[in-house]
Amino acid sequence: MDLGLGGKWAIVCGASQGLGEGCARSLAREGVNLVVVARTREKLETVATSLRASHAVEVKVVSADLTSDDGRNAVVAACQRPDILVTNGGGPPPGDFRDWKLDDWISALGANMLAPIDLIRRCIDGMIERRYGRIVNITSSAVKSPAPLLGLSNGARAGLTGFVAGLAREIAPFNVTVNNLLPGFFATQRLMAYLQALAVTRNIDREKIMSETVAAIPAGRLGNPEEFGDACAFLCGTSAGFITGQNLLLDGGTFRGVF
Ligand code: NAP
Repeated sequence: MDLGLGGKWAIVCGASQGLGEGCARSLAREGVNLVVVARTREKLETVATSLRASHAVEVKVVSADLTSDDGRNAVVAACQRPDILVTNGGGPPPGDFRDWKLDDWISALGANMLAPIDLIRRCIDGMIERRYGRIVNITSSAVKSPAPLLGLSNGARAGLTGFVAGLAREIAPFNVTVNNLLPGFFATQRLMAYLQALAVTRNIDREKIMSETVAAIPAGRLGNPEEFGDACAFLCGTSAGFITGQNLLLDGGTFRGVF
């Protein structure tokens, strides 16, 4: 299926590994030029080099902290006419909410709600003028089914989700869509760190937590970043213009709900 994306430009955040890298790879395969963003330049350069070697696309590297205003300035300076914006970054640390101070909540809101909203703000008017925009936020299955120990994530991402629901209807007339992708359990470094925290809390080893986790997924396996990236690329395509304001779970059937 031709997604009609050849020659477009995308900003992909958190693209040096995991789900963000999966999105960058799928978009590059569709001929999309990329601005890839993360804090650690070396890992990002490795991803960029491999993308340039495999696909005929331009890839610009921006090493920046997305939680800072300067970081977001650097991102939009590197991509002045984005057609696609994929917001993403690290998730907040797990823990017991009794231990979290106001600063912990402000950091989580900054990273997982306010940074994506600010990037959207900076990109959206150009997308509206050009009558093409695809915004995909990587959030979490925790938005539909809150995860143990991840209260900071559950709370902050719910804020972004509510905002996006309203925004989607405002920008729909201009062929600009905004959707959220909700990962369940995907084989990335972030998941390994989360399972380690769960193992420590329950005083059992990580292998046991891993086998319990996989056993609870109807698909019988973890997700992989490549299939996540392909879902993202589809939502960015020309034929996905009628899909907006959606929260799409990618969780191998883990969430047991009809809708
Ligand atoms: P990951 O492996 O930890 O990758 C996170 C990416 O974001 C890296 O490229 C990281 O690079 C970058 N990043 C982190 N903080 C940043 C910042 N302040 N500024 C710029 N870049 C930043 O995570 P993942 O597993 O791919 O998950 C992506 C998102 O989905 C996370 O928010 C995670 O919580 C959520 N999620 C994941 C799963 C899962 O199963 N994997 C499930 C539910 C939700 P640098 O560290 O170099 O900046």
